[in-house]
Amino acid sequence: MERILIIEDEEKIARFIELELIHEGYGVIKAFNGRDGLELVKTQPFDLVLLDIMLPGLNGIEVLRRIRQFSDMPVILLTARDAVVDKVTGLDGGADDYITKPFAIEELLARIRVALRKRDFHNTLERTSKIVLGALCLDSLKREVWVKDTLVHLTKREFDLLHYLLRNKNVVLSRETILEEIWGYDFSGGTNAVDVYIRHLRAKIEEPFGLKFIYTVRGVGYVIKDE
Ligand code: CA
Repeated sequence: MERILIIEDEEKIARFIELELIHEGYGVIKAFNGRDGLELVKTQPFDLVLLDIMLPGLNGIEVLRRIRQFSDMPVILLTARDAVVDKVTGLDGGADDYITKPFAIEELLARIRVALRKRDFHNTLERTSKIVLGALCLDSLKREVWVKDTLVHLTKREFDLLHYLLRNKNVVLSRETILEEIWGYDFSGGTNAVDVYIRHLRAKIEEPFGLKFIYTVRGVGYVIKDE
């Protein structure tokens, strides 16, 4: 069950939204001020937060700012009519969406569904974009390579080569196959280009860390695998 936190000081509105959300199958928790709401976000898992901007004490924009310091969870702001400045500040502050009070409950439900779908899509992308091999992690979306906790800078060619090896981990790849894949058929430089770039990779992802990922298969080519 997806859990939604409502942070709203007008208890009647909070109660109304709660009943509708429960009816739609969501789990709901309510907080009536910013401080309590923030505390809940820090201590319990939620899939989405509905956050009123005009709250006593800690206002919604400030709550949002503090949530964004540790979480990118979906947040939909509830704003008063025509509070244009609030909307802009809220979206700049990292809100996913906002809805103006009074609103039709169907519209709120639709916006919640959209925000949750976006989050799911993003999560799937994150998951599928990462390839992990022991202490080595390549993120094809961000084009980042990490060894242990260190971000390693690779050139475009080095990155493409490592990505290709990782997509085929435990598979022995011939120099010719690698050359065609990374340099293309019309490359005239010969297969020792592959050896040169493998050396570059080793100097960046293996040697500084005392680790080994890439193995030479004599007379054939290379394979990347777990130690
Ligand atoms: Ca309010």
